[in-house]
This record gives sequence, C-alpha cells and structure tokens, in this order.
Amino acid sequence: MAWPTDRDDELFALIDNEIDRQNTGLQLIASENFTSPAVLEATGSVLTNKYSEGYPHKRYYGGNQVVDEVEDLARRRVCELFGADHANVQPHSGANANLGVYLALLEAGDTVLGMSLDHGGHLTHGSPVNISGRIYDFHGYRVTPSDERIDMDQLRDLALEHRPKMIVAGATAYPRIIDPEPIRQICDEVGALFLFDAAHIAGLIAGGVHPNPVPYADVVTFTTHKTLRGPRGGTILCRSDYAAAIDKAIFPGLQGGPLEHVIAAKAVAFREASDPSFRDYAAQIVRNSQALAAALAGEGFRLVSGGTDNHLMLVDLRPFDADLTGKDAQIALDAAGITLNKNTVPDDPRSPFVTSGLRIGTPSVTTQGMGEPEMVEIAGLIARVLRAPSDESELAVVRDEVRTLCSKFPVYG
Ligand SMILES: *Cc1c(COP(=O)(O)O)cnc(C)c1O
Repeated sequence: MAWPTDRDDELFALIDNEIDRQNTGLQLIASENFTSPAVLEATGSVLTNKYSEGYPHKRYYGGNQVVDEVEDLARRRVCELFGADHANVQPHSGANANLGVYLALLEAGDTVLGMSLDHGGHLTHGSPVNISGRIYDFHGYRVTPSDERIDMDQLRDLALEHRPKMIVAGATAYPRIIDPEPIRQICDEVGALFLFDAAHIAGLIAGGVHPNPVPYADVVTFTTHKTLRGPRGGTILCRSDYAAAIDKAIFPGLQGGPLEHVIAAKAVAFREASDPSFRDYAAQIVRNSQALAAALAGEGFRLVSGGTDNHLMLVDLRPFDADLTGKDAQIALDAAGITLNKNTVPDDPRSPFVTSGLRIGTPSVTTQGMGEPEMVEIAGLIARVLRAPSDESELAVVRDEVRTLCSKFPVYG
C-alpha cells in the first residue's frame, strides 16, 4: 500500500467538530438540510476515482460500464420523479446548472427577465457581480409593495417592453408559491423561453406540496442539496428538443469530468424523494414553517408577505427593534446555537451586508423530526436572544436550552 498509514487527526478532528456543531445547534438556514446516511455513503464512494467525460455510452475514456449504469439510473429516477423528458445530472452546483442553460439557449447580450436580487432572486439571475449579469442583459421584476408577492403585472409590462429571449422564475428568498402557469402565458405572449429555477423548492415539488413547473417551463433547474435533501449539486430537466444543446453546454461547454460519486448520491436522493414518506416530509416542512412564522408574529416580528407557504420565511426586524440589524441578529443568534442568515427585505434601506431582515428555514429541523410544538419553542428562543442580543448570560442560557432541545432529535450518531 502506498497510502500513509497514520490517521489524519488534524483534519478528522475538524469533521468531528462539525458533526458536533450540526448535532447540537439549530440549523435554520433555508438552503440547507441533513442528507441521509445512504447519500453520504454514495458521496464517499470509489466512484470519485473515475474519469467519465461525456455522457452514458458516449464517453471519452474507457472503464465506464458501471458509471454509465449509475448515471442512467440517476437520470431515469429524476425524470420519473418530476415527469420530465430529459435530465442532465452533471451540474456541479445550481449556479452551473443555470449557466449551462444560458450557454445552451442564449447568445451574449440577449435580454432576460429575472427576479431582482434584492426582492428574492438569485445571483445567477443577472446580478452585476455574477457572470450572468455581465454577459446577458438582465432586467429585474419585483414584488408588489402591498402584498409583497411577485408583481405579475409588472412582469408582463417588462416582458412587453423588453421582449426578452428568456424569462427566469425562481427565488432564493421568497416565502410564497410561485405559480408557473401565468408566467408561461407571458412567455407565450412575447415569445420567450421559460426557465424555472426550482433550487430551493425542488423537494416541495417532489413531495407534491408545490406546483410542478415541468409541464409549463422549457427548462427546469434545481439544486439537489436544499429541500430535496440530496448531495451538494445541480440538475437540469428539459424538453427533448433542448436536450442536445443543454448536454453540450454542460460538457464540454462549461465543466470537465462529472462527479460520478455525487451523481450516485443524487440517484439515492431521487429514490428517497419518490418514497411516499417524502410527501409527509414535504408537507411537514410547510406546516413547521407556518407554525414558526405564526409564533414569531406572536413575538412581535413582521413576516414579509404576512407569512409563508413554503419552507422559509423572511422576518422584517424593524417593527420589533428599529435599531437591530440582520447582521447583529445573526451574530447574537449564532452565539446562542441558532444558525440562520441575515437577508434583505424588499426595499431594504440597509445594505446586503447589514440588512433589516432574517431568512429562516425549516427543512433541517423537519428532517430531525421536530414538529409544530418545537417551532413555537424555537420562536420563543429567537425572541429571547433578539430582545437581549448583547446579554452574554442570556445567550449562554439559550445556548443550553438549544442543546437540550437538539439532544431530543439526534441527527447523526
Ligand atoms: C441556491 C440557489 C442556486 C445556486 O445553487 P449553488 O449550488 O449554490 O450554486 C441557484 N438558484 C437559486 C434560486 C438558488 O436558491
């Protein structure tokens, strides 16, 4: 054996620390989840050793007999799960999935509509600091000032004004259902392609609690590691007419060799998401989210759009404490073992590094087995921290209560 025989204690001690952090704190970041042991096992498998540039049965290197079956299985399972014609399971991330779609279907300089970043959209939907905003001419649609839901009238007006080649739907901080049907109608009216980026909500769609965009959109992208609860990565679903262009854009256009160990783990996750128990999981995510939102409102917080019908909520801190920023709230909560992220609220007067809001998600705590009673308890803990964000002894008391709560819902042994 040519491998070192001594154990890398320096590194593996760090992984043990991270297991401890995940086990003993509340993980409320809306884009995170806990994968199953089977997903972890596949991710840690010898498939990481294999080079398999190309696609099943059309590879550049030999030795891909088994890998071809793995990738075929992943593609078959995800097409069945979402009712899609074609799947590309190679994108290393959600960002790469979107870039692959743009590369396949747009030319540099083409006009695209996406949700404004400061109203819930994603960096890859035309942010000036992202390659998408540098190469394409993105215009942002927003939520209404009154109900803080996607302003469909403005979306249609912008589409009629700019005649985009593509309209991108999907968000990273939007607590409501995104109905694909009216967006399809606008796309048809102006002759635009329709990309639905379901990164956050793929698990809610698979679990049957949100509408499936596949019958409406030309292309659907998503991440496999958020509500879908698989390994870190991306996937593209599309109609057969776009399959060849999209496959060519991902490889050789954008990426090199696929991560077949991650693709194997995606296959595991697609199977798990097609189990009837996943429907219960998805429904419980939303029930927990609604219970947490209602309890936070009871503590004096304002919920953007008044509540939630998905896995996340946006909390506007200003009515609770006009001087408390999202940044300071995140730091205080982290010290108490409650992990979430600061987030701008629509038309936030503060910068994205400071913010007036918090984004809170329930996918992880729901995987742990927590239910509505625990959501009420969590809202109380959050409120106690944010009433005394610089009171070290109160933060320590809450930290202990968080530890006790989490010990009743162990994640990893
Ligand atoms: C998370 C997210 C992405 C990007 O996913 P990464 O895997 O982090 O690259 C893309 N679009 C939306 C809407 C997202 O929420």
